[in-house]
Amino acid sequence: MTRAEIRSQIRLRQSSIKDFMLCPKLFQYRHLDGIDPKTRSAKTLNGSALHLLMFWLHNGEWEMDVENMYPKAFAHYEYASDESHIPVRFYKSREEDLKAFTAIAVEIVDGYRRRPENAESTMLFQEVKFRVKILGEMYEGTIDGIRQLPDGKIELFDYKSNAIRPNFHTVAADIQLNLYTYAARFGEFKVGDDWIKPRVLPDYSSIYYLPAHKIRKRNSKLGQKGEEMGSSLIRTTKTIEDLRAFRKEVSNILKSMLRPWHYRNNSTACVFCQYTDLCQSQNPVVSNRMASKANELLAELGISN
Ligand code: SF4
Repeated sequence: MTRAEIRSQIRLRQSSIKDFMLCPKLFQYRHLDGIDPKTRSAKTLNGSALHLLMFWLHNGEWEMDVENMYPKAFAHYEYASDESHIPVRFYKSREEDLKAFTAIAVEIVDGYRRRPENAESTMLFQEVKFRVKILGEMYEGTIDGIRQLPDGKIELFDYKSNAIRPNFHTVAADIQLNLYTYAARFGEFKVGDDWIKPRVLPDYSSIYYLPAHKIRKRNSKLGQKGEEMGSSLIRTTKTIEDLRAFRKEVSNILKSMLRPWHYRNNSTACVFCQYTDLCQSQNPVVSNRMASKANELLAELGISN
């Protein structure tokens, strides 16, 4: 594939950039070869369901009964999304996983509602589609939210529900968050049928880490039983100079994406990758015997794909 062919085949969305950063080979399988992952992880659907609950909360359902609403949000991604044809990989069973996810969602939403700032801020945009040109290339995506805080400051945020809380340095360098901030300042948002230019440089570009609202079940040196796990907001501030530096960085990433050779990252990402069989069976440095042995081991651990 030539550079021009690759460019014509991909959309520059946060998801394709994220996949490339995780592993260029995975990016190739998913975005260039159009191969679906074998399964979807129930944890990924849980993250999407939590996002949907947050959307509902700010759209007339602030008092929602989470036990009732969470399974509906999960079922939406399970049965009514673009990827519904891909089977879901549950950890125990659908029923047990959903029960556990629902219990955690109740803690998260309760904690979210308890934080006064979340109730008192004005949501300016939520789940808003954007497009922005950077050095001649159009990038697209969806921003979780931009809100006006009670003190008048503007905060752009991205909800995260990963197992590991990001730290300040990873948030400051986060490509997605930089892309969203760049789009808020220089790009356009889709509002109804129109594209508008918000021209906003947020005071904060933040990650809202939802699992921080989970409740501790026992005392430890990190906190007492009954307390929340930690602080949910990781705030950064970006200047126009930061955004200019980001412009260069993202176009360098694009140059790598367009190279016709996508290398295997071979990192911890492989443990969760849905292309392991395919990838390792095509890997010239892994013999067939080793590749099938690795897959057997993964299957035994219940993390095969
Ligand atoms: S198995 Fe590993 S190297 Fe291969 S595509 Fe997946 S993440 Fe990349």
